[in-house]
Amino acid sequence: MAEVVLNQVVKTYGNVYAVNHVSLTVADGEFVALVGPSGCGKTTTLNLIAGLIEMSGGDIHIGDRLVNDLDPKDRDIAMVFQNYALYPNKTVFKNLAFPLQMRKLSKSDIEAKVLSAAKVLDITHLLERKPRELSGGQQQRVALGRALVRDPRVFLMDEPLSNLDAKLRVQMRTELKRFHQDLQATVVYVTHDQLEAVTMADKMAVMNGGFLQQYDSPKNVFDNPVNMFVASFVGSPAMSLVPLEVVTHGTDVALRSPEGWQLPLSAANARKALTSTTAKVVLGARHSTVKLHTTQTPGTVPGVIYTVEPTGDITFVQVFLGASVVIVSLDPSVIVEPDQKVWIEFDQDKIHLFDGATEMALA
Ligand code: ATP
Repeated sequence: MAEVVLNQVVKTYGNVYAVNHVSLTVADGEFVALVGPSGCGKTTTLNLIAGLIEMSGGDIHIGDRLVNDLDPKDRDIAMVFQNYALYPNKTVFKNLAFPLQMRKLSKSDIEAKVLSAAKVLDITHLLERKPRELSGGQQQRVALGRALVRDPRVFLMDEPLSNLDAKLRVQMRTELKRFHQDLQATVVYVTHDQLEAVTMADKMAVMNGGFLQQYDSPKNVFDNPVNMFVASFVGSPAMSLVPLEVVTHGTDVALRSPEGWQLPLSAANARKALTSTTAKVVLGARHSTVKLHTTQTPGTVPGVIYTVEPTGDITFVQVFLGASVVIVSLDPSVIVEPDQKVWIEFDQDKIHLFDGATEMALA
């Protein structure tokens, strides 16, 4: 396996920067997920690594080789796409063997590699079937097998599970994770499903508008989003964001809402809030760190319930604080109703503060 290094990689289409000066290193054996909203540049980045499209600028190294000018077939990569692209008239065995025949391997070498990949993916019993005789999950395993037999330095995967139904996706997610653990493979994986990214990846590369926003472990991206975009993109439901104004009373610092309520800040949060470039800050809070009170309590701020969404083991409640919505999670045994007046308590140790002008996290 090999590391993949992108250095200031750019891809433009006319005036559009599909990928805008992206630099990142995927370490040898690491599983990296590229995530971000539709059109953010994930697939373009993957295709640039694969060599399927030409870069407008920058360098890409795979292992110790600069691959900028290498054809896809010379990059030692294997791609797995969402539509599997299996040959419908060939058996599974022949589907797996085909890339090796193209490389002119001996018959016995081909057989050994195909059987070994089939064993890893638990498809030995399917080798004589045609793709149409397989389930979606089995077809996906064959597609993985075809990548695996090539013994690539890097696996590039573009939404490989998106054609599967919800249950199978979860199952294949576990299998892919296992596949990665067993092979210690270097994997770059595009997905719009952040749960896939969080559960499988060692690192997430969060993109927006062609820019790399944050590149870190899923836990760090979740716990310490660098800006409001990442904060609102990662996590489901998204982090609640409440625009407020910093006000000082002597040495005390509070956040004031347009409606007039004030939230006194702890010393640590006060220090952060005062580093904002203007008096505007945005308070961020994940649902699990917000408490809902049905009576007024010191340190709480007033709101009105908008919706109550039971999901089974957890109930999500959307509360309007003026014009902002805050999501709170409750135990299903707690009964609340739309339009009910409530009070919200933020955990000062868990809130995030963002600069209202630059949208960057205040540290
Ligand atoms: P999705 O999740 O919808 O697949 P993505 O993050 O993979 O999106 P890309 O396909 O990489 O996004 O596209 C990035 C940007 O580049 C988009 O604005 C897209 O419209 C543009 N783009 C991609 N390919 C081309 C092309 N061949 N010609 C012109 N613009 C393109």
